[in-house]
Amino acid sequence: MLEDPDELAVLEEIQQELILQEQSVIEEYERSLRFDEECLNAMLDSLEATDRVICPVCRKNNLTVKAHLVCCQCGLYISTQDMTEGKLRSLLESSLTEHSQRCLHSPEFTVTSGMEEETSLLMSCPVCDSWMILL
Ligand SMILES: [Zn+2]
Ligand SMILES: [Zn+2]
Repeated sequence: MLEDPDELAVLEEIQQELILQEQSVIEEYERSLRFDEECLNAMLDSLEATDRVICPVCRKNNLTVKAHLVCCQCGLYISTQDMTEGKLRSLLESSLTEHSQRCLHSPEFTVTSGMEEETSLLMSCPVCDSWMILL
């Protein structure tokens, strides 16, 4: 049986198309893989970027930490020196840990404003009657 050259051409075309389709599927897949990776990296980056400290006073917002300033939407506004989110977090954590070693009550955080208009962050506990200036 002789094959019709036209039919052959059509078959070849179909085959070509199938190959192209397959390639595009593979490309699409690879692109989605790349996208996943980018997505993951972006998420990790944003996790690192949002190395945030929750405001201990209102316990709602993130503290904004700048080199000379710690502030929060709730009105907390404290001037500091060379502060970073990491430093602030470890300060809060160590203060809480230290307090929890002698008292089970969770301490309160308040902002005081002294006579010199210098605000500071105070950790106090009515149960063990202790207080501590954090910032
Ligand atoms: Zn706050
Ligand atoms: Zn206490």
